[in-house]
Amino acid sequence: ELRTVASPWTLGPLHLSNRVVMGSMHTGLEVLDDGGVAMAEFYRERAAGGAACIITGGIAVSDEARGGPDFAVFGVGGADERFRRAVDAVHDAGSTVLAQLFHAGRYALVGGLTDRDSRPQRVVAPSALPWAAARGVVPEELTGDEVRRTIEDFATAARAAAAIGFDGVEIMASEGYLVNQFQSPLTNQRDDEWGGSPERRRRFAVEVVRAVRAAVPELAVTIRLSGADLMPGSSTDADVDALVLELLPLGLDAISVGIGWHESRTPTIQASVPHGAWIEQATRIADVVRASDHPDVRVIASNRMTDLRDGEAVLADGRLDAVALARPFLADAELVARSLAGRFDLVNTCIGCNQACLDRSVVGAPVSCLVNPRAAREVRFPLRPTAAPKRVDVVGGGPAGLAAAVDAARRGHDVRLWEASDVLGGQFGLAAEVPGKEDYAGPVQAARAELAERGATVHLGRAATLADLTDSDAVVLASGVTPRVVDVPGADLPHVLTYEQALRDGVPDGTVAVIGGGGIGVDTAAFLTESPDEAVRATEFGARWQVPVSDELVGDLPQRRPAAHRTIRPGHQVTVLRRTGKFGQGIGLTSRWVALGRLRDAGVRMVGGVQEYLRIEPGRLWIRDESGEELAVPADVVVVCAGQEARDELTTGLRSADVPYAVVGGARDARSVDAVRATSEALEAVRRL
Ligand code: SF4
Repeated sequence: ELRTVASPWTLGPLHLSNRVVMGSMHTGLEVLDDGGVAMAEFYRERAAGGAACIITGGIAVSDEARGGPDFAVFGVGGADERFRRAVDAVHDAGSTVLAQLFHAGRYALVGGLTDRDSRPQRVVAPSALPWAAARGVVPEELTGDEVRRTIEDFATAARAAAAIGFDGVEIMASEGYLVNQFQSPLTNQRDDEWGGSPERRRRFAVEVVRAVRAAVPELAVTIRLSGADLMPGSSTDADVDALVLELLPLGLDAISVGIGWHESRTPTIQASVPHGAWIEQATRIADVVRASDHPDVRVIASNRMTDLRDGEAVLADGRLDAVALARPFLADAELVARSLAGRFDLVNTCIGCNQACLDRSVVGAPVSCLVNPRAAREVRFPLRPTAAPKRVDVVGGGPAGLAAAVDAARRGHDVRLWEASDVLGGQFGLAAEVPGKEDYAGPVQAARAELAERGATVHLGRAATLADLTDSDAVVLASGVTPRVVDVPGADLPHVLTYEQALRDGVPDGTVAVIGGGGIGVDTAAFLTESPDEAVRATEFGARWQVPVSDELVGDLPQRRPAAHRTIRPGHQVTVLRRTGKFGQGIGLTSRWVALGRLRDAGVRMVGGVQEYLRIEPGRLWIRDESGEELAVPADVVVVCAGQEARDELTTGLRSADVPYAVVGGARDARSVDAVRATSEALEAVRRL
């Protein structure tokens, strides 16, 4: 099925066995003081899992190029030894690896960072213009001499990469980092040979590529180029295409097309962004390349691809050479091998939540994955089969229960999974009903398939009792949460629903009041106002953000087709109400603004500072608003999203029985349910057994 994805190709001097590149991800493992053991194992698993070529997380080309404290610099603090171990691991697994040469420019988040001489790290940029999240740090404008030295830094880093044994280098010139900053009139207001006209603004990128190519003539050299900055007033498509034409004669082996700046207000990689939304940028650049005098330079597409069947659709017409996926490799190290074997059912899908990866990376915290809590922790949680197989009972088939059951089954334990409802998935099953979150069904499907493959017993529609568990060697209680009911007169009326009822059974058209504006309230409002058809949403996305969106990919996979009973455009007028705290509280930093923006665009009314919910009547909900006034909110239906309570009834019994057990996730603490914490706790619990 994946004919093109599975076909071999060449990338400069490299012969690659398939068309899937693992894109660069900053994990923080690069600076871990362990001789590179953790980083090597992280990359080794992905190489063994079929990635034909791996791009490392960004490696700063100098001290002042670092994006933050957890960025490595060649030659500093044992970095070379760590990378050598990682390169060897990738080669041993039969794959190839490129070092990404990185300079943060004004995006450096220095916060107390010092250089190797203990001086505070400089933040430098083409011009002394800070970005919005710079917390008052104004970058220093690079002098002409410093610009030349910085170009030489890229060449020096490339030579270091060659000496370490890397197969090539990727120059980071996208996402608003230094090289990209030089191209844009927003960030480059120089009036010397490096700025003042589009040609002069392109010069830095051109000279970096020239210098790097000359430094490592025997290595693959690629550039990660911004297909579109998505910043009003920044480079135009014509500017980008002109840069491509200038770079092509310099001996580049590939252009990997990135999208958007970190500070862009256009969503790029959040779950609600349609699959394949950015492919048109890559095909536009591919067309420029093919029509040039250097038509063989490879063009690699990336972003918002979670499934290699999408990759096949992208590559099938031959205009693009390969696809680069990043987060999906956190979710499943065996993404490529499983997909090439046709076992899409086993692929643990990245759900685009950013919660354990990007949201952590931006604050310098260790990166992992919500749906694969082993990610970037492979050494701490090795996959070795257990020497002492046990009977492990997992109570609850939500994200935490599935994470525990899969890990125990993989390691050879005899697993029984108990799920009270008729379906696996728990909160993920509900989330998958929300438009833009269809991928949440993927990890549930993958867990189901893997448990079946490994002979685990799954009891559906069967709440485990204490009697079921007395012969167990160990119990993981991951029974999750139940929606909290509100104590408001009229809450028992038939038009008052829990969010579970609303998401599972739907809500008739009309006015809806949502009590509670946290993550679930926001999701519920999206469910009530967004089309379940991704093709419809893709058209709307393109119109809203004025970008061309490919209609080839969206809605093409079975799990993305909307159920027949769901209408294409629901007819709800929604009010979301919140007492205290921010709307969307609990949604991660990189996704919250997107989620709230969608609701605003859909005309959802958001009423904060509610003092009191007074009573519910047919057709309306009475509240006391911020100013103390009584107000009737139109409500043919009221949906309650007022938090959850732990479903932990078995705990008392287990405590008195002589069965080792651990309580994880929402069942342990429902006040701050956090799926990252839940799946991580599940993994840790099952490893303690
Ligand atoms: Fe994907 Fe979420 Fe995992 Fe990040 S944490 S890799 S977005 S599933």
